[in-house]
Amino acid sequence: VLDVLIVGAGPTGLTAGCVLARQGLSVRVVRKHRPFTGHSRASVIWPRALHIMESIGAVEPLVSIGSRVTRVGYYSSGESIGSFGLDRLQDTRFRFALGVSQHETEAVLESVFRAAGGDISDAEVVGLEQDEQQVTTRLRTDGRESAWSSRLLVGADGANSTVRELLGIAMNDVGPRVSFRIADAVVGGLPEDEASYCWTPGGGMAIGPHDRHAHRLAYRLTPDAPDASPDSFQRLLDARGPNGSHGVVRELISTADFQARFAVAASFSAGRCHLAGDSAHVMAPAGGQGMNSGILDADALARRIVESRRNGAAENVLAGYSVERQDAIRKIMATAVEHARDGGLRSEPDIAERDQRYRGMWNDPALHMDRMARLSQLDIDPLRTEGARISA
Ligand SMILES: Cc1cc2nc3c(=O)[nH]c(=O)nc-3n(C[C@H](O)[C@H](O)[C@H](O)COP(=O)(O)OP(=O)(O)OC[C@H]3O[C@@H](n4cnc5c(N)ncnc54)[C@H](O)[C@@H]3O)c2cc1C
Repeated sequence: VLDVLIVGAGPTGLTAGCVLARQGLSVRVVRKHRPFTGHSRASVIWPRALHIMESIGAVEPLVSIGSRVTRVGYYSSGESIGSFGLDRLQDTRFRFALGVSQHETEAVLESVFRAAGGDISDAEVVGLEQDEQQVTTRLRTDGRESAWSSRLLVGADGANSTVRELLGIAMNDVGPRVSFRIADAVVGGLPEDEASYCWTPGGGMAIGPHDRHAHRLAYRLTPDAPDASPDSFQRLLDARGPNGSHGVVRELISTADFQARFAVAASFSAGRCHLAGDSAHVMAPAGGQGMNSGILDADALARRIVESRRNGAAENVLAGYSVERQDAIRKIMATAVEHARDGGLRSEPDIAERDQRYRGMWNDPALHMDRMARLSQLDIDPLRTEGARISA
């Protein structure tokens, strides 16, 4: 019987796979889709997730292709209301966030996983049963069904998780639904070390460098928005971007419109099956917390699995996973919801209060640090070193 079957080869499933395979467990990943290429989803890895990448040997290849973001700037109608320095972070050697396309992150994780002896198959999960000893997962490949047995199952199969549905776990909304348009673009004249949130009463624009040659541009989609084109992005950048900056949109590499929601699964565990990443929680991209949260789930779960294997106390150690990560997600979600709300304010008094709040945070060393620690997810749990003990 396999130790762990992981459903999903996104950043979450692959990170869990890397931790487990490197610790010598037998682990297999199945995925319904081959990875998308040329179309980026998440584009930033914050310091806490970089520590995890380091622990599995993935940080060097990622740093070699990513853009180092050392500042997060906030602008209200073009005027700076805060420039937060990641270089002020303490207790971490990653005093930057890494701008890198999700498909590049997945490619690096996949090669680390395979090098550690991990196996990936193309198959869709269509059913599962579990008892005291094991999980039996039914899979479909090219119309043919097969079944695999494993001691544990990790459902890292994304926002429309089949595993979550098969386990009968509800997804509860905790914030509004919002539509976004994003583009990966070649833009001249913008800083390569700053991610910025540019808010105006007419709407916002998020800008983040990634992959050393591109910028992510994102804004909230309204029914009257023009078609996505270099011209329409240029007009918004001119209207909403920082005063004095002269970004020139040279090329749109890819664009996507999508609806995002804030929602959390009622539980992250059911018996021998555990949810991680988007299957357990989804959030709008403002603040770039979604993928990073999945990477932290994957690490926390995989380390508990390794620990349970070592000391045989599987139930005790694994039982703590759902509560540990639900608590963490509540905190992260609060930051993401606040970020989205701050970016969507329209009335003058609300905007004046927000701008004052940001200036206050910027100028107060403790609040400044707290803001960066929250975005970096360094406030979530103490940094753990590989093989460190985990209390149940
Ligand atoms: C357009 C877009 C833009 C985004 N932008 C950002 C951003 O800027 N910042 C950010 O942090 N996040 C962003 N996100 C969210 C981010 O992409 C997700 O948080 C991240 O992909 C979650 O990773 P995951 O591994 O949990 O799930 P996914 O990446 O969704 O991976 C799911 C995996 O499960 C597999 N799978 C699904 N169903 C089955 C099944 N039945 N059987 C077998 N395999 C299955 C899939 O093939 C895939 O391999 C964006 C998402 C979208 C759609």
